[in-house]
Amino acid sequence: MKKSMKKDNQTEDLGSEISEADIQISNKQPEQQEKYNSINRNNNEEDNNLLNCTTTSKENIQSSWDPVIKLKGFIKQTKFNKKKKKKGRKTKRKRRESDDDYSSENLPSDDSQVSSDTIREQNGEPKIVNSSEDYDNIFENVLSGNFYLDWQSAPNYNFYGNFQLIQEKRITYHSRLQLYTSYVTLFPFIPIKERDFYNKTSNLLDSLSRTDLCNECFRADSIFFRLQHERLTFEDLSDEDKACLFHWKEHVRLYEHQDQQLEQQIQGLGPHEATFHIDFKENFDLDMNKDQKSQSFFQKSPVTCLSSVIHKGTEKGLIIKKIITILSTVLNHSACFVLLALQMMFKSEFLKDVEFIHWWSDGGPHFRNKQLIWSLLNETDPLLPGFEFEINYKVLYHGKGEPDGVFGFYSQGLNNNMPQEGINSLDSLAKFLKLLSVHQAKVQNDITKEHEILILNFDRFDDEADFLVIERFKKFLSIVSVEGKIKARLLTGISDIGEKTCDMISDTKDVKRTPKRSTVPIIDP
Ligand SMILES: [Zn+2]
Repeated sequence: MKKSMKKDNQTEDLGSEISEADIQISNKQPEQQEKYNSINRNNNEEDNNLLNCTTTSKENIQSSWDPVIKLKGFIKQTKFNKKKKKKGRKTKRKRRESDDDYSSENLPSDDSQVSSDTIREQNGEPKIVNSSEDYDNIFENVLSGNFYLDWQSAPNYNFYGNFQLIQEKRITYHSRLQLYTSYVTLFPFIPIKERDFYNKTSNLLDSLSRTDLCNECFRADSIFFRLQHERLTFEDLSDEDKACLFHWKEHVRLYEHQDQQLEQQIQGLGPHEATFHIDFKENFDLDMNKDQKSQSFFQKSPVTCLSSVIHKGTEKGLIIKKIITILSTVLNHSACFVLLALQMMFKSEFLKDVEFIHWWSDGGPHFRNKQLIWSLLNETDPLLPGFEFEINYKVLYHGKGEPDGVFGFYSQGLNNNMPQEGINSLDSLAKFLKLLSVHQAKVQNDITKEHEILILNFDRFDDEADFLVIERFKKFLSIVSVEGKIKARLLTGISDIGEKTCDMISDTKDVKRTPKRSTVPIIDP
């Protein structure tokens, strides 16, 4: 009963938020749509060039249903009236020129009083504007689609500069070349080279590299985008889309809860207690375009980089932090690899006085699996004896956190300080990263900033792995062991709703023994 009431409140919340956001956007009336269409048709007959359309009649502005567009139209109208005078002169000159009659009232084009801008304007060519010097924010309005339904009021500008055509990350299911071809076909009057198009669309992700993109957020995004562009209200949406937004709202609540829990746990750490946040750096083969000459190995070969950020409480009530990074030429990001890496990390001096660990990771399959849960929680043959674990997962695709900051620190350090001879082995990479952190610790006068950098090397995995027998465990984000039983919880810190208890039973499966390996040598050749 309590639960369903709570849910209803959320429903109301969402409804009111959405309609609030829509207050600015009134609905399009059918006759206005017709009007808009007829305006469109008329203008298409006269001129097919979008960017050259500068005629805006006063009636058009007044009949516009959008106050923002109305306001812009008014500004445009004022500018247009000023331009009208110039245009009158222009037609006059044209007529006289055709009669081979020189008009003294027009200044010759090479006269210093006439700027090249004016000439371009007179010839109906677009005004050339640097996108960063666009004081009226017209460029921003173009990119936000504000001229989409009122393109007549768009000024005749040609923008250049270092900008992105798409402001936020979006997925494309086509190749970039196809998109480029469509772009130049649709907008032949916009001169853009293929390479510039690619540079200006770096926010386009192809569907293969969408590893950190959340489906639910993406779908909700698309619905919100449609709401805005088609000027719909929440009530106009299909039942399916409405349900999707409610679902998304719940999704946001979950991932925010998990993020907050980690923060709260760090703040509240007591002695012998620690949080352990671990993540892989995906594709640690850095982009070395900056210095093509350095024959750095990651130009060709990837290496594995697994980092953990550990916070622990002390007797004095302080919270101290340590970063441990494991480098390896083994490229399997599997549960077996993670468990071997954990054994190495947990030998650290830093963890000697710790007894209770709050594990945190994203929901990737190498972390969220029955093998890892069994290894950390079982009491008969634990992987790390002497440590008691609470295993917590971030919501899938919402696992960003402190380890990402560590990877950013490494990448930046490598880009800025790459030695001339390059880095040619795992060992020299480890030394390099260690030095980076020692330098940082010195600069900030904080010895805890020194990272532990370890190299993990082994020939083979065990050919068998034990795993916990548990049904549908993927809906649980927090798993602990209490008095010989496994307790799986929907959210960290909440044990009264939806907790599932199961017996500590394991099964065994076969594992492929041979690891996939990078060609990088461990020690300098
Ligand atoms: Zn999401």
